[in-house]
Amino acid sequence: MIEDKNPQRTPVENLGEFGLIDFITKNFEITHSSTVTGIGDDAAVLNHAKSTVVTTDMLVEGVHFDLSYAPLKHLGYKAIMVNLSDVYAMNAVATQVTVSIAISNRFPVEAVKELYEGIEMACKTYNVDLIGGDTTASRSGLVISVTAIGEQDADKIVRRKGAADGDLLVVSGDIGAAYMGLQILEREKAVFKANPQNQPDIDAYSYLLERQLKPEARKDIPKLLEELDVLPTSMIDLSDGLSSEIIHLCKHSDVGITIYEDKIPLDPTVITACEEFNLDSTTIALSGGEDYELLFTVKQEDFPKIKANPSLSIIGHVVDASLGSNLVTRGGEQIPIRAMGWNSFQE
Ligand code: ADP
Ligand code: MG
Repeated sequence: MIEDKNPQRTPVENLGEFGLIDFITKNFEITHSSTVTGIGDDAAVLNHAKSTVVTTDMLVEGVHFDLSYAPLKHLGYKAIMVNLSDVYAMNAVATQVTVSIAISNRFPVEAVKELYEGIEMACKTYNVDLIGGDTTASRSGLVISVTAIGEQDADKIVRRKGAADGDLLVVSGDIGAAYMGLQILEREKAVFKANPQNQPDIDAYSYLLERQLKPEARKDIPKLLEELDVLPTSMIDLSDGLSSEIIHLCKHSDVGITIYEDKIPLDPTVITACEEFNLDSTTIALSGGEDYELLFTVKQEDFPKIKANPSLSIIGHVVDASLGSNLVTRGGEQIPIRAMGWNSFQE
């Protein structure tokens, strides 16, 4: 589907490992005072005034992405986003990243450059310093492993543990779009395979495709909460799907959660696409992953501070652990929420 726009193919051997590292990292600038030493030494040196949070996520070709429809630039961007999302889910500020790549020899220098353009754009937009990484050969496709580092005052770090009976459950943005974007990409890939003359019909779905290919981590939400003077009691990011993240919060906080079907925020294009694919939009919102929104609980007394915020939806509340996790449908029926991350969902 994506044509090779890079006719020039310089083998990585032409530059060598060190030449390649220099080539891909030369545009990156250090902006944080907590970065004492960045790329170039045996290790980076950091000096955070606050508590440090560290998180790693790996993206593997054929498991997490398909190069036939994921442009490399977007992939680089997404690899940073999925990691920053975990930092923001701790209510921390992301400050540094490391990026390690394993590349097969079918990858020319131009492809690595494209990948790093996406990484660079993400680092600039989200104000994080690239401080190191590793570069190695791969015999089984592309692997990108990112470590993100952030900081926050110890008493403002928010964990999965901490939700209490009566708290409100809040989600940022809207959900289900990234999963529907993937459905569209897979359908168009199949159409293209059947007849390469067919042009992909994707214009109506640009929002869904963007949510899948170029997600944005919610850097703005910890900042917004600070401005609203709200410290969540627990928080998690939506990487696997609402239902499995709810179950994580319940398990770590030892509580139950009730959510309401009519409160789940859906973009209109998700509803349209679900109708077209004959899928239930609530099931997609619960089980489709990769939205990278933040899901958190707040004390009931914080309700006035968040109720009218367009970025936040109150979708339910915390109950006693003995009640478990349930969805109240539009018809008033109560059904148990099962863990159905996007992985199991696709089986
Ligand atoms: P070492 O052999 O000591 O591990 P390397 O030659 O692998 O050092 O790396 C040299 C420098 O370049 C280090 O600062 C390392 O963190 C950085 N680096 C290596 N690969 C990457 C990469 N893919 N992205 C960003 N920085 C990298
Ligand atoms: Mg190394």
